[in-house]
Amino acid sequence: MQMVNFDFKNEIIKEDFSLNYCYQCGTCSSICPVAFASEGEYNPRKIIEESLMGLKSLLIKEQKPNIWLCSTCQMCVEECPQEVFLTGIFESLKNKIVQTGEKYPEAFKVQAKAIIDNGVAISLSPPIIRRRKELKLPNVESADRIELKNLLKATNFEKKININGDR
Ligand code: SF4
Ligand code: SF4
Repeated sequence: MQMVNFDFKNEIIKEDFSLNYCYQCGTCSSICPVAFASEGEYNPRKIIEESLMGLKSLLIKEQKPNIWLCSTCQMCVEECPQEVFLTGIFESLKNKIVQTGEKYPEAFKVQAKAIIDNGVAISLSPPIIRRRKELKLPNVESADRIELKNLLKATNFEKKININGDR
């Protein structure tokens, strides 16, 4: 049986106190489309349980369950009877993974680079622009690239996410 790591649990709670309210009912996992598609291999309730126990190695190093599979659809947040902010907790865990230099999916690096280069995470391709027009959706404004570059440089963003590294 794994021992509770109170220090790491408290680190997570400091970033989102709602973790404390989880009573492990499993509603999040029963409603999660990724849990359904992966036949339970991805399991948000389990990530929350590991967070409550402060199981740092499983969460940060081994990444079991794989937290990066969450699509941030927010269905679990909407349905949680205890109003646990799961996606906020997952976000802070992902930040910890990156900050500690552990592996994370290449796709996130590509998106980060797109933000640096174009001011948006997903560039608008001609088919997307055409479809948006058909649906009468408003134009998508991108951030001021120069200002964004300066901000990201000032915060040492590229180095922090190891954008040119090979981890
Ligand atoms: S639905 Fe909420 S209370 Fe229930 S297990 Fe998930 S996070 Fe915990
Ligand atoms: S936000 Fe993530 S964990 Fe929650 S239901 Fe959607 S995919 Fe599942």
